[in-house]
Amino acid sequence: MQDSIVVGSGPNGLAAAIFLQKAGYSTTIYESKEKIGGGARSSELTLKGFTHDICSAVYPLSRASPFFRDLPLEQFGLEWITPPAAFANPFDDGTAAIVWNSLEETASSFDNRLDGEHYSSLLSGFLKNSKEIIGDILGPIARLPKKPIDLLSFAVKAVVSVSSYAQNTFRGKDARAILGGSAAHSMLSLEEPLTNGFAMILLGLAHSIGWPIPKGGAQKIADSLGDYFISLGGRIETDFEVKSLSELPQAKVVLFDLTPRQILRIFGDGFPNWYSRSLGSFKYGPGVYKLDYALDGPIPWKSEECLKAGTVHVCGTLRDIMISERSVWDGREPEKPFVIVAQHSLFDKTRAPDGKHTVWAYCHVPNGSDVDMHRRIESQIERFAPGFQSKILARHTFTAMELEDYNPNYVGGDINGGLQNLWQTISRPVLSLSPYKTPIKGIYICSSSTPPGGGVHGMCGYYAAKSAISNELSKKRR
Ligand SMILES: Cc1cc2nc3c(=O)[nH]c(=O)nc-3n(C[C@H](O)[C@H](O)[C@H](O)COP(=O)(O)OP(=O)(O)OC[C@H]3O[C@@H](n4cnc5c(N)ncnc54)[C@H](O)[C@@H]3O)c2cc1C
Repeated sequence: MQDSIVVGSGPNGLAAAIFLQKAGYSTTIYESKEKIGGGARSSELTLKGFTHDICSAVYPLSRASPFFRDLPLEQFGLEWITPPAAFANPFDDGTAAIVWNSLEETASSFDNRLDGEHYSSLLSGFLKNSKEIIGDILGPIARLPKKPIDLLSFAVKAVVSVSSYAQNTFRGKDARAILGGSAAHSMLSLEEPLTNGFAMILLGLAHSIGWPIPKGGAQKIADSLGDYFISLGGRIETDFEVKSLSELPQAKVVLFDLTPRQILRIFGDGFPNWYSRSLGSFKYGPGVYKLDYALDGPIPWKSEECLKAGTVHVCGTLRDIMISERSVWDGREPEKPFVIVAQHSLFDKTRAPDGKHTVWAYCHVPNGSDVDMHRRIESQIERFAPGFQSKILARHTFTAMELEDYNPNYVGGDINGGLQNLWQTISRPVLSLSPYKTPIKGIYICSSSTPPGGGVHGMCGYYAAKSAISNELSKKRR
């Protein structure tokens, strides 16, 4: 009998498998698709020679991940590129707020001088101990933090809503929009508690490590993790969709890189009632509508500084972003959506033929939406970059429901493996001191539906594997 099986090869499945194999436990991954990677895959979605990231595309969390950063992934072909600015936020008047990698440069470029000072003081505590604070944030709640005082002072500001914090602290449009756009990655209404924390984390990462992209596309992250795993002696079976436990060979532990809804389908009545009920009441968040373009040139932003940023937040002012995200929260597709755009080929020439470009974009929509948002997204980009539409050579779209068809982990188009509000940050996937462990012996959950949640950081997989080793595998060995 082998030691462990991991079902699903997303970043968390791969992280769990690497940790287990490295600790000396023979591990096999079973993946339903022909390629590994889950949310970290690339493909020629539009035209030949254009490499598009199908799901995730920008990786501050991967670079900061306490687990990934210690793996020798460069030896397995992973190369990071860090654009000079993490993101830009253009406005209707042709100006743009830019989040440069340098905090000082960013703060001094704001349209209001005092905002620059408040911005620096908001982030300076985080930046002083960013490594430790990130380590504390990217872990289960039920453990002792490494920097309790710093974490507490971060938490006091993090727990409030970004709409109240930004409007009470800043006067100019630049700082307000920067905070709002960063917080909107949470997929929560900007009036929700904790949204200021999402903004602080993403801005802190922007000024400590930047918002990097992998040379050659997201698939390089998955392939480097997969190749490293194989070099440790691990095995990967692709084209193997697990529908029930009985299809798998015997193993001491099985870790599922899946979300509660799929796990309930696999185990049917196998769990005690209380656990099935808890998993059944797990909430999924808004979905996303995703677009990829092949372009005949870079996006013609009115503000040329936007070409220095890997990511562009396209919506306008904090108020515009709030209206868009409020609409999604209330169950309506926004008329003028907040669009997250990534322009990889400006910094990575391998992504498109000479002189041509790729663009990756998405906006938030209500969970389960099948509305085609491409016209609304294009008119938002056109608003800040007149002439954009004339550059389009080809496009590829995914509605929220098509994203779920592509990867069943994206239930209703939710890319975080479940709503990431204050309650479900504490109680993913159920309220427990041992959230990765299920009541069935040897069965664990390791996906982004467990702490710390969504994003390509592998920390859910790492902690789930640690839990499986300490609860079962190391005891069996003794
Ligand atoms: C459009 C989009 C944009 C995103 N942007 C970013 C970003 O820029 N940066 C970032 O950090 N994160 C981003 N994310 C989120 C990120 O991709 C996810 O949080 C992350 O991939 C979650 O990893 P995971 O391992 O938990 O699950 P997944 O990556 O979803 O992996 C699950 C794996 O399990 C497989 N699987 C499913 N069912 C079965 C089964 N029954 N049997 C076998 N295998 C199965 C799937 O094929 C998949 O490979 C984005 C996601 C999307 C969709």
